Amino acid sequence: MAIETEVLVLGAGPGGYTAAFRAADLGKRVTLVERYPVLGGVCLNVGCIPSKALLHLAEVIYQARDCAGKGIKFGEPEIDLEQVRRWKDRVVKTLNTGLAGLAKQRQVQVVQGTGHFVSDRKLEVETEEGAETVSFQHAIIAAGSRPVKLPGWPNDSRIMDSTGALALEEIPESLLVVGGGVIGLEMACFYHALGAKVSVVELADQLLPGADPDLVKPLHQTISKRYEGIWLNSKVTAVEASDQGLKVSFEGSEAPESQTFDRILVAVGRRPNSDSLDLEAAGIQADERGFIEVDDRQRTSVRHIHAIGDIVGNPMLAHKATHEGKVAAEVICDLPSAFQALTIPSVAYTDPEVAWMGKSEPELKAAGVEYDKGIFPWAASGRALGIGRREGLTKLLSDRKTGRILGAGIVGPHAGELVAETVHALEMGADVEDIALTIHPHPTLSETIAFAAEMIDGSITDLYLGKSRKETK
Ligand code: FAD
Ligand code: NAD
Repeated sequence: MAIETEVLVLGAGPGGYTAAFRAADLGKRVTLVERYPVLGGVCLNVGCIPSKALLHLAEVIYQARDCAGKGIKFGEPEIDLEQVRRWKDRVVKTLNTGLAGLAKQRQVQVVQGTGHFVSDRKLEVETEEGAETVSFQHAIIAAGSRPVKLPGWPNDSRIMDSTGALALEEIPESLLVVGGGVIGLEMACFYHALGAKVSVVELADQLLPGADPDLVKPLHQTISKRYEGIWLNSKVTAVEASDQGLKVSFEGSEAPESQTFDRILVAVGRRPNSDSLDLEAAGIQADERGFIEVDDRQRTSVRHIHAIGDIVGNPMLAHKATHEGKVAAEVICDLPSAFQALTIPSVAYTDPEVAWMGKSEPELKAAGVEYDKGIFPWAASGRALGIGRREGLTKLLSDRKTGRILGAGIVGPHAGELVAETVHALEMGADVEDIALTIHPHPTLSETIAFAAEMIDGSITDLYLGKSRKETK
């Protein structure tokens, strides 16, 4: 069967389905090609959504434990893993069904099969019924990414990637997490809460490399009390599989002696799925890391073919993919759109959460920018104390001359929700005074953003800054 369409979208992750729905809403005939029977891609099926559902359970378990020191004791949780899995899968399925309905309402044609280009106007799709061709006027490549594999490791089902870890086959007695990035630390969090003894080995000299060390410190301190080990500047040199477990040897300045684990999660990054699309047939070349280069209208070197999401580069985040998807669809429909966000926020949904946006302090220093900073410790927030979370902090960075917000970082529960206010402030060109003079409800964690701003402009009364306090405003 041959299909002719105005807009072909390849891949139905958050980038692809958003682009397809937006193009359809703008009046285009859209065909969405996806190899799996469900829409939603990595984010919905094996990423953001199931991981956050499991992290919610971790949060409840940690909070219940924390209550013991406050006069309320719960028993140790009884975990019915089958029911946990069913609940997580139900959350995903509800959204899968929702997306299928949204595609139908918009008359987006969904073709299930694996696509590859045969020219710059034609895609071939391998379906269960055989090969189909889709001829298109415009295409949007949204084929996403997959986990990086470490070479030379044994092929053993106890060695998992993020998808395997989310399948939650069992809670192992001991789990080694290789990679202290965002996936490794989120998964470490819920496996630990569900009862595993967790260790983390990380190649770099800090967890969440690239994040501001001031933000990483409270997380590191909290989890180092919970986990068996956090070994920085270290890597795995060998894994031997036997019936007794996985014997792991390490190398590096903080590396331990070799140890045996029941399971290993490998979370050392993701790579783009550009190598199976026959991009050359469409006249497109990926770079040496496999990313497809695009301009701010998401156009590839072939003008009528766009690309979005993980396949065009870092950061590999769902909210970046969806925004890029809208831009691509709107550009195809001749709207004056471009990807011009000033920042893309990042959140590690760990316990405590870590969220940041804009420039980090090390980045401002390296660029020689003159800046001011306010770091408000949550130990001075009534709300944070009331929820037992004094380890948190809220950090704001502003331009010394103009007072404009340049960056922000938050550590503590709900940091991911709180950081949105600072993203909005940055996008609106707000300065420190705008935030300090905005009345935040009391007692809330959001107040800590205003307090950090007051620390910069010198008007803070919830802390005493002594001589460093500005006398006048
Ligand atoms: P994808 O979601 O990867 O979708 C690509 C789609 O293309 C897939 O459905 C795939 O099957 C399909 N496809 C690929 N090749 C073909 C082909 N040849 N033919 C047909 N179909 C094809 N991001 C966040 O912002 N917040 C989070 O909390 C978060 N948590 C995450 C947790 C985990 C465990 C993981 C792994 C990722 C997480 N991410 C998170 C990242 C997020 O999932 C990705 O950034 C996002 O899914 C990228 O969207 P995309 O549309 O570019 O691609
Ligand atoms: P990552 O790049 O965030 O972290 C990988 C970590 O592994 C790094 O810290 C790296 O230094 C380390 N590493 C690399 N090789 C190693 C080795 N041989 N031994 C030990 N450590 C090693 O990648 P990830 O955690 O796999 O996540 C992939 C992508 O998924 C990220 O880019 C992220 O944007 C996205 N994601 C986002 C969220 C979120 O937004 N909350 C959650 C999960 C995933």
